[in-house]
Amino acid sequence: MAGTPTTTRPVHDLVIVGSGIAGLSAAVYAARADFDPLVIEGPEPGGQLTLTTDVENYLGFPEGVGGTELIMRGRDQAERFGAEFVHGVVEGVTLETRPFELRLSDGEAVRTHALIVATGASARWVGAENEDSLMGYGISTCATCDGAFHRGDDVLVIGGGDSAMEEALFLAKFADSVTVVHRRDELRASEVMVERARNHEDITFHWNAELLAVHGSREAGVTGATLVSHPNGYPKARIDDGLEVEREVVDTDGIFYAAGHVPNTDFLEGTPVDVTLSGHVETLEGTTTETTVEGVFGAGDVIDPNYRQAITSAGTGSMAALDAEGWLDRRSERATPSVAAGADD
Ligand code: NDP
Repeated sequence: MAGTPTTTRPVHDLVIVGSGIAGLSAAVYAARADFDPLVIEGPEPGGQLTLTTDVENYLGFPEGVGGTELIMRGRDQAERFGAEFVHGVVEGVTLETRPFELRLSDGEAVRTHALIVATGASARWVGAENEDSLMGYGISTCATCDGAFHRGDDVLVIGGGDSAMEEALFLAKFADSVTVVHRRDELRASEVMVERARNHEDITFHWNAELLAVHGSREAGVTGATLVSHPNGYPKARIDDGLEVEREVVDTDGIFYAAGHVPNTDFLEGTPVDVTLSGHVETLEGTTTETTVEGVFGAGDVIDPNYRQAITSAGTGSMAALDAEGWLDRRSERATPSVAAGADD
């Protein structure tokens, strides 16, 4: 039954929404500074790194480190300093009044003086026909989670960035063939990843092509796909422009989306926190994680349309904690009347 959320907790100094590497880094810093942060884990605890294989470019791990291991270590580190973690998904927030109030999907309300939004980003769906009904039934956004179901299969990977290369390389361990379907004829991925994928004998590329429709059923899984292509790329946009494109139906046993991510900012809709056209939380000019609401800070992929690396997310997480700590300190100084010099004891 819908109703007024029940407040069962005291007002926190600092709540961090999101438990990916940005949220964890913020939690380590804030807990170490004795701000007792509460971390609300969100729908995908641990964030995107738990869906990846090896992280090779995180400083300090010359042999690479597993994404999940990195996250587990970060969480242990935050807990060691006293950060508290709760399962929960934030559905709405009230930021116009203080303390801020967060409404969780289980009906609980959490109140806090300062808030760090580290909600990250989720896999982008490409808008193919039937993707709604077949997501999780042969369409996947995570090769490391679902790749092993495709031993001996022929699969498609949609996208042309580092994630697409990584997914293709991972899937090639199980699948007979992996076809990367990319909407242009030039990859966005880094040179090293492109080289690895191009040199793999089981990986091929379908250039200037997009996924129009997925065929299959929940019972049978994915059985095929309709691809469209155009010599100048972006075939779906050509269809929208009324141009002719080539269409082909291919047999496939699985489709993996690796078409980038969209920031998770839905819960901020209607609040005074400004969000950019791309859906990212806007931070104020200069080197800061402050948002358009005093006391609300952003960290990680949710504020970052450019870098989106594990190490930069961890970096902005620590920045957000330092910014929040400074703000909380200034706020408590303002709230505590100073003892006038020379006043009586
Ligand atoms: P990117 O945004 O880099 O790439 C997304 C890809 O998907 C692009 O090639 C894009 O095409 C394509 N795409 C976007 N929307 C659609 C659509 N609607 N239909 C079809 N194709 C679409 O995202 P990634 O997740 O690959 O990478 C994100 C960040 O994470 C990057 O900074 C990357 O370097 C990093 N990363 C690093 C890894 C590593 O170093 N091991 C591994 C994975 C990610 P187009 O190119 O035409 O825009």
